Amino acid sequence: MNRDASITSLSALASKLTLSEEEKGFDESDGTLLPIKIPSSFFKLINPDDPSDPIRRQVVPTVFEHAESGGETLDPLAEKRHAATARLIHRYPNRAAFLTTDLCFIHCRHCFRRRFTGTFQGPANEEEIEQAARYVEKHPEITELLFTGGDLFTLNDVQLETMIGAFRSRRPDLIIRLCSRAPAARAERITPALIAMLKTFDTAPFFLMTQFNHVRELTKEALRATALFIDNGIPAMNQTVLLKGVNDDADTLKELCNTLLANRIKPYYLFQGDLVSGTAHLRVSIEDGMKLEAELRKRLSGLAMPLYALDLPKGGGKVPLVNSYVEEKKDGALIFRTPYGGHRSYPAD
Ligand SMILES: *Cc1c(COP(=O)(O)O)cnc(C)c1O
Ligand code: SF4
Repeated sequence: MNRDASITSLSALASKLTLSEEEKGFDESDGTLLPIKIPSSFFKLINPDDPSDPIRRQVVPTVFEHAESGGETLDPLAEKRHAATARLIHRYPNRAAFLTTDLCFIHCRHCFRRRFTGTFQGPANEEEIEQAARYVEKHPEITELLFTGGDLFTLNDVQLETMIGAFRSRRPDLIIRLCSRAPAARAERITPALIAMLKTFDTAPFFLMTQFNHVRELTKEALRATALFIDNGIPAMNQTVLLKGVNDDADTLKELCNTLLANRIKPYYLFQGDLVSGTAHLRVSIEDGMKLEAELRKRLSGLAMPLYALDLPKGGGKVPLVNSYVEEKKDGALIFRTPYGGHRSYPAD
């Protein structure tokens, strides 16, 4: 069997899983929705006997994706408006995101960039790369560039080398983040040859930004892939999306974060779900999210604790969602609640 094989249709899914009515109700012919795409290695992580399996919920679509609830749009972060060039989103003064390709190894039902993902536009062409690289050259205030998409590792090593070279030849100091779900979705793509190519660009750091949402995704193969980066001087940071029925309880998140840390992957962000069309059934309320944040702060070390954050609608930018421990100001002192329920005071000025 081709080990790259992916499941790409409801009928293929139905031959392997007993689909629920909600899952059967997904209309594949609706061209506005993200098509089904589940790598067989990822599919194998699903427990077929559990209809609410957390891996299944991330990749098997349901009829709920056809519902658009209040405030949802296809481009919740107004990325189109912040496009500096065809493929470059420049929303923050000091960092920008380059859409390397729209292709992914996996289609996540919660994807916030579904206005772009899997739309068959393919990798950025030479002109789009040059345009973006010239823009970054002219904007020295940009110190970090995110290579995102889509998934940059759907490109081959030669394509990647050209892309990285275009930016780094003009800006040797540019820090580049490699944002990829490949370690979870196509671990065998991460090869010593890829890492060796990256290492030829040694004038500034790379960071690997992974997306693991559940501890079961941290397979032996996934950890081998991330270790290859880390062992070669590329630190790994993880961005988890808070998802209803996948990871919205403290035990699940605690186990995920501690296992990430034990494998040298720093839990970086825990994202509140964006208001993207057809994802309401996967979103957790901010109120519940804040309770989880408080619980995690009690149970996780500072290193293992991700920052719970929301990317504000209409391109407002990311803001931290952090519980405050200041209760009041009294007699010249700030009164704090401790994470464990006690109280302490500290001079207010
Ligand atoms: C999230 C994001 C970044 C990076 O933000 P950090 O808070 O530094 O991780 C940069 N550009 C865009 C457009 C983003 O959405
Ligand atoms: S890998 Fe990322 S860009 Fe691709 S579908 Fe999943 S969340 Fe979206």
